[in-house]
Amino acid sequence: MHGVLLVTGGSRGIGAATARLGASAGYRVCINYRCNRQAAEAVVDEIAAAAGEAIAVAADVAVEADVMRLFETVDRELGPLTALVNNAGILERQCRVADMSAERLMRILATNVTGSFLCAREAIRRMSTAHGGQGGAIVNLSSVAARLGAPNEYVDYAATKGAIDTFTTGLAKEVAGEGIRVNAVRPGIIYTDIHASGGEPGRVERLKDTVPMQRGGQSEEVARAILWLLSEEASYTAGSFIDVTGGR
Ligand code: NAP
Repeated sequence: MHGVLLVTGGSRGIGAATARLGASAGYRVCINYRCNRQAAEAVVDEIAAAAGEAIAVAADVAVEADVMRLFETVDRELGPLTALVNNAGILERQCRVADMSAERLMRILATNVTGSFLCAREAIRRMSTAHGGQGGAIVNLSSVAARLGAPNEYVDYAATKGAIDTFTTGLAKEVAGEGIRVNAVRPGIIYTDIHASGGEPGRVERLKDTVPMQRGGQSEEVARAILWLLSEEASYTAGSFIDVTGGR
């Protein structure tokens, strides 16, 4: 498989697993990150050590000028984009809706929703046959929280993932006739740093018994679903969702 893959938030967790698996499938990979350069460079080094090709590019997906520069860097350093994984996402400290500030809501919407729209826009401008491109694929990271709502923890985060679901459905129909397949993956509770950023590093351990498979998931298990949706194996799949939740 050959092509150019951009993974937003590719320096840690699910994004890093996706970047590694993408490189081993033959993609030239751009690992985007926001601030932790060391983590991004470590993934680049791992890929290079396995004879793959990758670059790391700092950019905040919530900032339009950063997104423009990110995609221009991919054009210049890796060539025509064929695949985008809208993976960068944040959650904030667990709290109830009654205690959420406007600043918090704007931060989470900006990264999780606006960021995904801006990156998809730039990908479409490059991949759509209506824009002179060769087609491609986009995978958005939603969450099981879109279905469950995350009460008492982060309803704001869950609502951004509900927005990603609707975004996936609408965009998939909008660009399916232009050679671009858009799909989403909804992870359940996966062992990554994101739970610590919500204030509970041990969240997966606390909740794992509520999962029908009685365990948390690994980033690689999510990455495999993402890579399948990007691949030609999924050539007739658009506007679809894969739940990677252990049955939850
Ligand atoms: P994570 O371990 O917290 O890693 C987040 C990644 O996103 C890091 O590479 C981080 O880079 C980057 N990032 C954050 N804000 C960014 C921004 N504004 N611009 C660019 N990059 C940014 O996250 P994860 O658990 O792997 O989650 C990945 C995706 O899966 C997210 O969309 C998340 O909502 C979704 N998801 C995760 C779970 C789970 O249980 N882990 C479940 C359902 C859905 P820096 O380190 O440089 O900031």
